Amino acid sequence: LSVIEGVEPRIADATRQELTDQRGSLKLIASENYASLPVLLTMGTWFSDKYAEGTVGHRFYAGCQNVDTVESVAAEHARELFGAEYAYVQPHSGIDANLVAYWAILAHHVEAPGLAEKGVKNVNDLSEEDWELLRKRFGDQRLMGMSLDAGGHLTHGFRPNISGKMFNQRSYGTDPETGLIDYDALLAKAREFKPLILVGGYSAYPRRVNFAKMREIADEVGAVLMVDMAHFAGLVAGKVFTGEENPVPYADVVTTTTHKSLRGPRGGLVLAKEAYAADVDRGCPMVLGGPLSHMMAAKAVALAEARTPAFQTYAQNVADNAKSLAEGLMKRGVKLVTGGTDNHIVLADIAASFGLTGRQAESALVDSGIVTNRNSVPADPNGAWYTSGIRLGTPALTTRGFGADEFDRTAELIVEVLSNTKAADAPKGGASKAKYIIADGIADRVKAEAGEL
Ligand code: PLP
Repeated sequence: LSVIEGVEPRIADATRQELTDQRGSLKLIASENYASLPVLLTMGTWFSDKYAEGTVGHRFYAGCQNVDTVESVAAEHARELFGAEYAYVQPHSGIDANLVAYWAILAHHVEAPGLAEKGVKNVNDLSEEDWELLRKRFGDQRLMGMSLDAGGHLTHGFRPNISGKMFNQRSYGTDPETGLIDYDALLAKAREFKPLILVGGYSAYPRRVNFAKMREIADEVGAVLMVDMAHFAGLVAGKVFTGEENPVPYADVVTTTTHKSLRGPRGGLVLAKEAYAADVDRGCPMVLGGPLSHMMAAKAVALAEARTPAFQTYAQNVADNAKSLAEGLMKRGVKLVTGGTDNHIVLADIAASFGLTGRQAESALVDSGIVTNRNSVPADPNGAWYTSGIRLGTPALTTRGFGADEFDRTAELIVEVLSNTKAADAPKGGASKAKYIIADGIADRVKAEAGEL
């Protein structure tokens, strides 16, 4: 940091402060983690300075021999770790990985009407004029993913996201009684809608998914099965999710981020059946520019770490700790969506448990040194901004060595803060959805204890 200090002291200060904040509070954001020192160091090298558009052995720039090594090693680790036929490690983020996957599937499946005679096999070979023809056709392609309020991600067809604009989309939800995916209802919806792509995976669903059933549904309606395992890739890598809970053998294409439960650098990757390899390989130039070689190097290091027995122990602890956290909350009267968890996520219904919005709970907890994020619950009466829930996750604190006792104490601290918080009056009368009052002394006391846990 002394090197950075001499150039821009404000950045050195913010970096130092970020370390203090991340280590001094309870980080319960389900999508965050702490990457290892080897991963952090690998991100900060001169590989950042190299351009390498293209793919291994087929670059648009000279001098890419070392990047070729990096990309090959990262892809090899990804294939072997997940047992995938093919891996593409260039996507800069999870959203990029999903865009690469969507375009690869379109390229693979959408035939250009009337263009076959011209020798055009797929969208990558289209001229401008052909594109015009096909644009209309693309607008008709159908995508079906989990709805945002049931726990899906923006990129699974949410209207304001490009996935909701480039596809004719419909979403599936969860059963209103149990909060669980109802596979029969999903099948009925898929039969009616007939999507080209059925998307599995989630950002805020606290349960395991049966991907064998998702495969059957996709086959029944002739859809491609794509699974976004961004959240639970660490649990797949660590062999906690095996058999039908592991999407890799069942899905045509699997995407993930590398920085959540997988504990690597920020980034994404795509795994695919061999049949899709050539189309996925065209991620650059289709939707990506030059790969971030330093990040691919860090992905390789993180994936190598994820292949060790120590990572399997870590992943099992992540799942066990989520159960401890969930039980700790439930025995203190907190209502959880689906009544528990069997992955790394706990989704607490704050409105039902404490009469607060998710936003009030999120803020009161941050004041008390506990960092979470507000999250919609199914059919949320408070909408996507204020929400009625908070999402909690165990990957980060498990990396710090927390076990069952620490997570039970964490649950106790959360309940202590929220049961001593109430909604403040709104300026126009009634209860505010954003403002709140915490009883005197609670936030400071909990913060001190959270810092010491
Ligand atoms: N897919 C899922 C399921 C996610 O939860 C997220 C991130 O929250 C993403 C994709 C997007 O990842 P990124 O933020 O790296 O673009």
